[in-house]
Amino acid sequence: MDARRVPGSCLCGAVRFDIELPALFCAHCHCSMCRRAHGAGYVTWTAAPYERFRVVAGADRLVRYRSSEHGTRTFCGTCGSTLFCESTNHPAWIDIVVANLDADIGLAPQAHFYFDDRASWTRVADELPRFGGTTGVEPQS
Ligand SMILES: [Zn+2]
Ligand SMILES: [Zn+2]
Repeated sequence: MDARRVPGSCLCGAVRFDIELPALFCAHCHCSMCRRAHGAGYVTWTAAPYERFRVVAGADRLVRYRSSEHGTRTFCGTCGSTLFCESTNHPAWIDIVVANLDADIGLAPQAHFYFDDRASWTRVADELPRFGGTTGVEPQS
């Protein structure tokens, strides 16, 4: 396999996909929708342009849920792993959950998004920039 391709899969393994590096970014999202969709304090995302992303197996297992006016989340219908998020706000790329990838994407997390929307019990001790506001990406004082 091409070393620049990083494979990923859902928990049950039915859905397999890969992305071709370089990834576009890596960031933690604290928004309430991510927290509920993933059952987690926050979710670490990366992204790839559509032309560098492909579903290799299990496309028929993918279930799509439109979670907002602009966003659609995709999960495995068999095991429930949350896999992708697509948005009409960024039609050129697809967001991918870093935890489902099998190898290093060459990028460490760079920022916190929707930081002011975070769960009250979340403790963050790193020095990464924190963004928030209605778009989730506005600088925080
Ligand atoms: Zn699955
Ligand atoms: Zn989010």
